[in-house]
Amino acid sequence: MKILIHRGASEIGGSCIELMHNGKSILLDYGRPLDANAPIVPHSLLPERISAIIASHLHQDHIGMADSLAVPVYIGTQALAMLREAAVWVSHTPALDNAVAYQPLKAFEVAGFRITPYPVDHSAFDSYAFLIEAGGKRVFYSGDFRDSGYTAYKTERLFVQPPQDIDLLLMEGTTIGSVINSAGFATHGNTKEADLIDMICTTVKPAGCTVEDNAGMVLFAASSQNIDRLVTAYKAANKLGRKFVIDAYAYSMLKATGVKSIQSALANMLVYIPQYQRVKIKNEQLFDKLCPRKQRIFIEELAQSPEKYLILYRNAHIYDFSVDMLKNAIVLYSQWSGYLTGDSHIERFVQQHGLPLRHVHTSGHADIATLQRLAQALKPKVLVPVHSEYPELYSEYFENVKVVSEINL
Ligand SMILES: [Zn+2]
Repeated sequence: MKILIHRGASEIGGSCIELMHNGKSILLDYGRPLDANAPIVPHSLLPERISAIIASHLHQDHIGMADSLAVPVYIGTQALAMLREAAVWVSHTPALDNAVAYQPLKAFEVAGFRITPYPVDHSAFDSYAFLIEAGGKRVFYSGDFRDSGYTAYKTERLFVQPPQDIDLLLMEGTTIGSVINSAGFATHGNTKEADLIDMICTTVKPAGCTVEDNAGMVLFAASSQNIDRLVTAYKAANKLGRKFVIDAYAYSMLKATGVKSIQSALANMLVYIPQYQRVKIKNEQLFDKLCPRKQRIFIEELAQSPEKYLILYRNAHIYDFSVDMLKNAIVLYSQWSGYLTGDSHIERFVQQHGLPLRHVHTSGHADIATLQRLAQALKPKVLVPVHSEYPELYSEYFENVKVVSEINL
């Protein structure tokens, strides 16, 4: 087996790893680079020899280019359902018309490779690592993972029951670098997802509080594809006696998970459809995307008592919300800090309205101790860094490291 890391050997984003065996190739992920100036297709990739794409999860930097090759894309069932919904709302989202859904821990064969998907915890719902076998060799690809979210048990199961005799481990190292590396990811001691609930509740006031500061509407800026984070916001809102208000896109994402507990929570959320989504629903006849009527909330109700709500923030909300609605409001920023450039839309919004902006976030990626647990569980003969800005630092933390972009097994 030959491994060619077309992108990701020394960067985060645009992941693209080719495995070759017997003249046939598969790609592990095919993402868009985070750097908008980087070429979309890696120079070293020869698309004509690729038989299939095996996608670890739905993040754009892992799957954003998957539609550009006319080959089957293998992906988790729920990730596929979410991507197809997301493609309706978000541009550049691959709709994956040529997709095949795989199942957790059920091995499948493609182009002479045998692939077993191992579920892992990550900020993208339905994420996987893979065991790939061909020509008597066994390669493990970590994908993106952590053990601090609501599905930490998945990663824990991998640590406790790891596959044996791994010849080579391709392991992500997003957080490797300084304490906070230049990509803004914390190296040590990731806060657990569930800890964010208390962080939110101590930052903002419960509904009906008479103290004015931060007692108005709570605007919560998070990705609608980060299901864990929506659940966190929902639980915090419940504790605060507020109602969690989402929009039509977040409603679609939560519904697409198909998970029972999430559907029960979803039934207790309210849905405010901003003007731009109303126009889109009408123009594109997306009426099947609407929630039941009783869950809808309209601008008049929000304006009447904004202090009752914790609402998912959208840049376009500012065109809907009046100055009065934003009195004593607070904005919680629950995404990667690297998106805060000083001149981002949300920063301009809070400046314009004189609102406080607080960062309430935890990484979707494993810290070093967790990465070490995976390496120790799998005991690979060779460990090759991927999805890291600092591959040269791996040997400080792990054994048998080889920093390469091409290797024969
Ligand atoms: Zn990811």
